[in-house]
Amino acid sequence: MKREFAVIGLGRFGGSICEELSMEGMKVLAIDKNEHKINEYKNIASHAVIADSTDEHALKELGIKNIDHVIVAIGDNIQASILTTVILADLGIKKITVKAQSDYHEKILNKIGAHHVVHPERDMGKRIAHSLISSNILDY
Ligand code: ATP
Repeated sequence: MKREFAVIGLGRFGGSICEELSMEGMKVLAIDKNEHKINEYKNIASHAVIADSTDEHALKELGIKNIDHVIVAIGDNIQASILTTVILADLGIKKITVKAQSDYHEKILNKIGAHHVVHPERDMGKRIAHSLISSNILDY
């Protein structure tokens, strides 16, 4: 059975997650409050819906409770990211992954019920540094 994902926030990070999951055959509900973003992803995701994720009622209407894994990819607006995460945790979503903007943001996200917090820029920097070291070792 296809796993169901929802991606909230279709910036560069959320957008590429949405694209990749869809290309891998997963069912993806794409959510953004910006109509242009939704138009961009409506042919990529299984469903693309304009909604403000800080509105609990709107998330319930979308049937978010039935989704296995929700990714919160709102970066700049920390308040919206935190509020969205609290709502998802209260609704009992089984797996919540959230993009953090700072260590402080990450700490709060962990306390309020995020299951996995990512810092794309920091995590990628670390990964590249390690791959640079291993390619250097192979060069010897
Ligand atoms: P990236 O670096 O990945 O491009 P970013 O850090 O610039 O992302 P933002 O611009 O803050 O991230 O947000 C990404 C997307 O999230 C935007 O398309 C924005 O419209 C959407 N977004 C922000 N707040 C909400 C919200 N409350 N509900 C739904 N979508 C939202």
